[in-house]
Amino acid sequence: MHHLLRKRIAVTGGAGFLGSHLCTRLVEEGHDALCIDNFFTGRRDNLSHLMDYSNFELMRHDVTFPLFVEVDEIYNLAAPASPVHYQKDPVQTTKTSVMGAINMLGLAKRLKAKVLQASTSEVYGDPEVHPQTEDYRGNVNPIGIRACYDEGKRVAETLFFDYHRQNNINIKVMRIFNTYGPRMHPADGRVVSNFIMQALQNQDITVFGDGSQTRSFAYVDDLIEGMVRLMNSRDGFTGPVNIGNPNEFTILELAQKVIHLTGSSSKIIYLPLPSDDPLQRKPDITLARKELGWEPVIQLEEGLMKTIEYFDRLLGKR
Ligand code: NAD
Ligand code: UDP
Repeated sequence: MHHLLRKRIAVTGGAGFLGSHLCTRLVEEGHDALCIDNFFTGRRDNLSHLMDYSNFELMRHDVTFPLFVEVDEIYNLAAPASPVHYQKDPVQTTKTSVMGAINMLGLAKRLKAKVLQASTSEVYGDPEVHPQTEDYRGNVNPIGIRACYDEGKRVAETLFFDYHRQNNINIKVMRIFNTYGPRMHPADGRVVSNFIMQALQNQDITVFGDGSQTRSFAYVDDLIEGMVRLMNSRDGFTGPVNIGNPNEFTILELAQKVIHLTGSSSKIIYLPLPSDDPLQRKPDITLARKELGWEPVIQLEEGLMKTIEYFDRLLGKR
């Protein structure tokens, strides 16, 4: 890579599922990648393959506190993403989103750096518009058990746009839809990792509710490609932009697919649906196609096979 194109790039939440894939991509491209993480849900193991690279650095830091480093770009991914984990300490979840955004935007302001926010389809709440377009304002319960995450992420978007308007910060806001793949934590609690871990061990598959609620699942490699394209998109394009795979499945269909692909003898059991669980979710990705020339290329069965292989190896190591 040409020396002038080599950038110093910070990734908050870089030890987590998405962050570790992003750090890997940036290191492979020859950039200086600085991973910032407090290991709340992330793990050093996710980054062990990068430790010997001179262009990779790992820093233990909580983004709710100010950060003083020198970089050209910031990807702000710090925030637990699984409902199980973000509901464990909901006050900390809101703090991480809000204080984390303020601190990273302050850093970007001082450095005149570009900053990308990992926002979420959760800003649409339990959506009444289907599929979701970026101009839909959402249906979030401000006092429910998901609010610490949803409202935290909504305020973070507000802060990004206010810093942009007030201080001319170069922002990129990405609304990420359900993403899965290798390096998800086996006890992460999200549906894909739960179902695969259960199926591989022939345990009951825990479907919440009647399984008729839908999600649209993106494979991690597609997601990271969209994220990097957004960071490198034309000046003045701020988003928000949906990044996800528009192929929609019911949770029951997902359970059946996982059982089939693993050849498991697991049975499906039905547990109560958690409150405020969105009934349907599917991204409209027209804007990403137009602005980023991006669309997902890995469909569910192929992505599930790669993810099953990963968890199978992980179980073998135990
Ligand atoms: P993850 O839980 O695997 O990773 C989050 C990382 O952030 C972890 O390494 C964690 O230790 C770190 N972190 C949490 N609080 C922190 C703090 N205060 N200071 C520093 N580090 C902190 O989750 P993920 O799936 O990799 O998600 C990454 C980002 O993408 C999150 O912001 C999430 O909201 C967003 N997102 C993910 C999905 C998805 O399906 N994976 C969907 C929508 C949005
Ligand atoms: N879910 C489920 N069984 C599980 C975990 C999740 O049926 O063991 C359901 C959950 O109720 C939701 C969907 O799967 O409807 C996706 O849940 P996840 O926690 O992965 O992410 P969400 O999109 O809800 O944030």
